[in-house]
Amino acid sequence: LLTLSGVTVRFGSRTALDAVDLEIAEGEIVCLLGPSGSGKSTLLRVVAGLQPPDGGRVALDGADQARVPAHRRGVGLMFQDHQLFPQRDVAGNVAFGLRMRGVPRAERAPRVAELLDLVGLPGAGSRAVAALSGGEQQRVALARALAPSPRLLMLDEPLGQLDRGLRERLVIELRGLFGRLGTTVLAVTHDQGEAFALADRVVVMREGRVAQTGTPLAVWQRPASAFVARFLGFDN
Ligand code: ATP
Ligand code: MG
Repeated sequence: LLTLSGVTVRFGSRTALDAVDLEIAEGEIVCLLGPSGSGKSTLLRVVAGLQPPDGGRVALDGADQARVPAHRRGVGLMFQDHQLFPQRDVAGNVAFGLRMRGVPRAERAPRVAELLDLVGLPGAGSRAVAALSGGEQQRVALARALAPSPRLLMLDEPLGQLDRGLRERLVIELRGLFGRLGTTVLAVTHDQGEAFALADRVVVMREGRVAQTGTPLAVWQRPASAFVARFLGFDN
């Protein structure tokens, strides 16, 4: 579904992504791990079309994306600070993604209801966003990102602000949800437990490069380098 070949991004003299090669298959759930500043968010932004690469190629379903603007890529992106529209109610927030996609008004309401059911907020459409808990707001943001049925859903620390217990529950729910929908997911997380629970495969980044990729079990059992071992918290 997604192929990055030699993708490079520079900010002045700093190389945020250094010739990254990465493939993600249809239906796969991949978690990006790595220290702060290793290029995780930049990678998502390049795929989303929000950051033009200085070199290399991004392809979706085999098609080069260099000339495809962000809103035509069929890629959903959810940031940590999910930036819901506080002046709109829940339904207004979720419908936003549908309007962007050109879904006719009459079709939006049933689709919004369906999405709210999906994320576990049935009937919440008329509630004010400001009156929701953090976890509920994250679900609304997720429903909004899922609304246009993106072929690839990218999440940047989607549960970052939630407490541990809620995060653990949501991760299990999300895993089930993505499995049912067959959604291909690329998610950044700082939390290894979250990556372990969610991912079919993890990608560990270091200084703009892929340090290791594999199933969570393979990476935890056989870190490919001292860096990965240290990053995962093994002492030697
Ligand atoms: P974190 O875990 O802290 O979110 P990250 O892995 O997402 O980190 P990026 O945000 O991708 O890291 O940043 C990679 C590098 O690129 C960092 O050195 C960062 O300072 C730099 N960088 C990112 N965006 C910009 C920008 N708009 N202008 C200049 N430098 C940037
Ligand atoms: Mg980041």
